[in-house]
Amino acid sequence: MRIKKIGVVGAGTMGAGIAALSASAGVPVVLLDIPGKDDRNEVVKKGLERAQKSKPASFMDKARVSLIETGNTEDDLKKLSDCDWVIEAIIEKVEPKRELYSKLESTLRPTTVISSNTSGIPMKTLLEGRSEAFKKRFLGTHFFNPPRYLHLLEVIPTPETDPKVVELIKDFGERILGKGIVLAKDVPGFIANRLGVYGMIQAIRIMEEFGLTIDEVDALTGPLLGRPNSATFRTADLTGLDVLKLVSEELAHTTGEDFSIPAWVLDLIAKGALGEKTGVGFYKRQGKDILTLDYKTGEYQPQEKLRTAELGALKDAPLAEKLRGVLKLSGKHGEFMRKLFAVTAHYTLSKAPEIAYDITAVDHALEWGFGWQEGPFKNMDAVGLDTVRQIFSEHKLAEPDLLKKTKDSFYKHGKLLGFDGSYRSIPVRTDTIALAPLKSSGKVLSETKDSALVDLSDGVALFEFRTKMGTLGDGLVRDLNKALDWIEANNYAGLVIGHEDPRTFTAGANLALVLSVAQEADWDTLNMATMQFQNTAMRLRQSPFPVIIAPFGLTLGGGAEFTLHADRVQAHAELYMGLVEVGVGLIPAGGGTKEMLFRFTKELEAYEQADFFEAVRRAFQMIALAQTSTSALEAKNMGFLRHGDRISMNRDRQIADAKACVLGLAPDYLPQLPMKIRALGADGLGNLRYALWQFQEAGQASEHDVRIGQELAYVLTGGDGPSREVTEQDILDLEREAFLKLLGTRKTQERIAHTLKTGKPLRN
Ligand code: NAD
Repeated sequence: MRIKKIGVVGAGTMGAGIAALSASAGVPVVLLDIPGKDDRNEVVKKGLERAQKSKPASFMDKARVSLIETGNTEDDLKKLSDCDWVIEAIIEKVEPKRELYSKLESTLRPTTVISSNTSGIPMKTLLEGRSEAFKKRFLGTHFFNPPRYLHLLEVIPTPETDPKVVELIKDFGERILGKGIVLAKDVPGFIANRLGVYGMIQAIRIMEEFGLTIDEVDALTGPLLGRPNSATFRTADLTGLDVLKLVSEELAHTTGEDFSIPAWVLDLIAKGALGEKTGVGFYKRQGKDILTLDYKTGEYQPQEKLRTAELGALKDAPLAEKLRGVLKLSGKHGEFMRKLFAVTAHYTLSKAPEIAYDITAVDHALEWGFGWQEGPFKNMDAVGLDTVRQIFSEHKLAEPDLLKKTKDSFYKHGKLLGFDGSYRSIPVRTDTIALAPLKSSGKVLSETKDSALVDLSDGVALFEFRTKMGTLGDGLVRDLNKALDWIEANNYAGLVIGHEDPRTFTAGANLALVLSVAQEADWDTLNMATMQFQNTAMRLRQSPFPVIIAPFGLTLGGGAEFTLHADRVQAHAELYMGLVEVGVGLIPAGGGTKEMLFRFTKELEAYEQADFFEAVRRAFQMIALAQTSTSALEAKNMGFLRHGDRISMNRDRQIADAKACVLGLAPDYLPQLPMKIRALGADGLGNLRYALWQFQEAGQASEHDVRIGQELAYVLTGGDGPSREVTEQDILDLEREAFLKLLGTRKTQERIAHTLKTGKPLRN
C-alpha cells in the first residue's frame, strides 16, 4: 500500500502544522475541524490561516496550501474516505477522541490507517470499544511542535497493530515527511515527554532547593550539557507553561508518579504568564530587553548572565569533558548539577525498559525531540559509569537494575546493552550513509585540516568541508581540485560534495582572507584567487564524471555558487540559500552572476517573443536584494535549484540520496556543453541604471548601493557596447573585474570588516 493522501482531524497547533508539513512534502491533505457557527468551516479556516502566518513558517512553500482541502467533522467526514492515513490531532481528552474514532470506523475504507497525535494518553485507553479490525490499523504517531522543525516522530504501535501498518507509517514518516522515527511503548508520555518533562520539573525543584536563580539554571543546563541555548526555562517559555502544566498533570494522573509543579509556577499560569505566546513567563520581554523572573519575589529583574572562571574553562571543551566538568563544579552550582544528574539519570535508567525497546530509542528521543547533542545513555557513558554509581550513592539512590547489567559502558565497539543484559550489535542501516563509521573503518582517501575525501564505495567518493562554518578559502579550493583530479585518475563514477554539520553547509568565501589581501592592495593575488574560484566552479560541471552537491541549512555566497555549478543538487528540504555578496559590498564573482544570467536567459529562449531583459531583471533583483530561500522548495521557485535538482526531506538520507544520484547519472554521463547567449549591452544597461537612479531618488539605496548595483548591471548586460553574443567566460571575466573594483573601494572594505566583526551587514 502507498500513502497518496492524508487526512488530519483537528486544525489546531499540531493538526495544521502536520497538514502544512505533508503539503510541503507534496502530499494532498484533507483537514477537518469542528463546525463553526456562521460559516461551517470557520474553525478549520482559522486554524489553517494561523499555520500560514506562523513564525517560523509551517509551510516550506506558501503556495502548497492549495494541496489542503478543508471541511468540518459534521458535513465532511466522507472527504476522508479516499485518504490512506488519517491522523487525529484534536483536543487532549479521551471522550472526544473515542467518539471521533467511532465515527471514523463507520466512514473510512477498511484499509485506511488511523493514528492519534496524543502527547501522552495510552492507545489502549483510546481504543476502548473499537473492533479488532480497527485496532489492527491503529497506532500512535506523536509529532513534536512545530512539526516542520522538530525531527522526532514517536511511533507507538499496540500489540494489536498490524506490523505492516507500523512499517508503512515508519517508512512514510521517515522518507516523505523527513522525520526521525523512534518506536515507543504504549505507556503514558511515551519516551521523550516522560523523560524530558521529568527533567524539566526536577530542574525547577532542585533550583529552589539550592537557591539558584533562573539565569543560573539556564546557564548550567544549556550548551554546557550539549543542549539547546534555550536550556530549561526558555524552552518552557517556548513550549508554553500551560502546555507544560497539562502534560505534567496528565503524566501524574496516568503514571501515579510525582510530576507536580511548584506553586509559584502555577501562579504564573493562573496570571496568564504562559511564556513566549503571551510575551511573559519565566522571562519577560520589555522593549529590546529580556528580564528574568525572580521567583522568590515575583518581580522581573534585568538578566544576569552567569560567568565564572570554571564555566569559562569548560565553554569550548568537547562535550564529554563538559559533562564531566559540570559535575565537579564548586559550591552550589556543583551541588545543583550533581543532584539534577543523579535524579534524572536514575529515572532514565529505571524507566527505560518500561517505555522503550532499546537505549538508542531513548537517546534519539531526547536528541530529536529536545535538541540534545547526545542522549542520556551517551551522556552517562561520557561521564563514566563508576562516576554515575558514585553520584547515586552520594544521593542515597539504589543502583538501578539496568546499570547493574553493564560492563563499563552502554555502547561499546559497535555494540549496545540490551535491556536483557546482553550486548548486541548496533543495527547498521544500509539505506543511509553516516560518515563517522566510514572514517573509522579506513575509508578516508585523503585529508587535510580543511577537507577530506571519503570513499562511499561503488566508485563514489565524498568531498567533505572541514573548515569553520564551511568557509571556502584557498586551502579548501585547492583540495577540491585535487579531489576532482583523483576521481578522474582513479576512474571513479563520480563525486558527492557534502558534510554533516547540523546547521551550516557553507557561509561562503573566507572574507577575512579576502579583506587582508585587499588591504595590502595585492590585486594580482586576488585576481588569481578569484579566477581559481571561478575555474573550480566551472570544473564541477565540466569534469568528465557527475558531481552532485548536497547542501543544507545556510548555503551562502561562494557556497551557493558552487551549488549552482554542480551537475545536480541533492538539497535538504531546509535550505537557506542566497547570493548575499552585496551585503558586504561585492557581487557574486565565483560564477554566480554569470550562472543566474545564463540560466534565466536560457529559460526564455524557447519563446519566440521573449523579452530577454526579463531574465536580466530577474537575476539583477535576486542578487541586488540578496534574496535568500527559506526552504529548498522556495530555492526551486526562485531558480537556485533547477527542475532536475532533488530534495531530500530527511537529512539523514541526504548523502545516500546524493550517492544514488551519482550512480544514476554515471553510466551515460557527458558534461554539459559550453553555452552562449545574447547579452543586451547598452540598452539593457540603461534600463537598469534608470531603475537604480529611481531607488536612490526614493531614498531606498545609498550611494554605495548604487555603485554596487551599477557594477552588477554592467556584468549582467555584458557591458555598455552593442548587444552581442557572449560566452560564459566573457561574463566570468566581467564578474571578476567588477568584484576587484568594488573590493578596492573603502566602503566595501568597511562593509566586510563590519560583517566580520558583528556578523551583520552594514549599509554605508
Ligand atoms: P489545539 O487546541 O491547538 O487544537 C485542537 C483542535 O482540535 C482545535 O482546533 C479544536 O477545535 C479541534 N477539536 C477539538 N475537538 C474536536 C473534535 N471533537 N473534532 C474535531 N476537532 C476537534 O491542540 P494541539 O496543541 O494542536 O493538540 C492536538 C493534539 O496533539 C492533542 O492530542 C495534543 O496532546 C497533541 N500534541 C500537542 C503538542 C503541542 O505542543 N501543542 C505536541 C504534541 C502533541
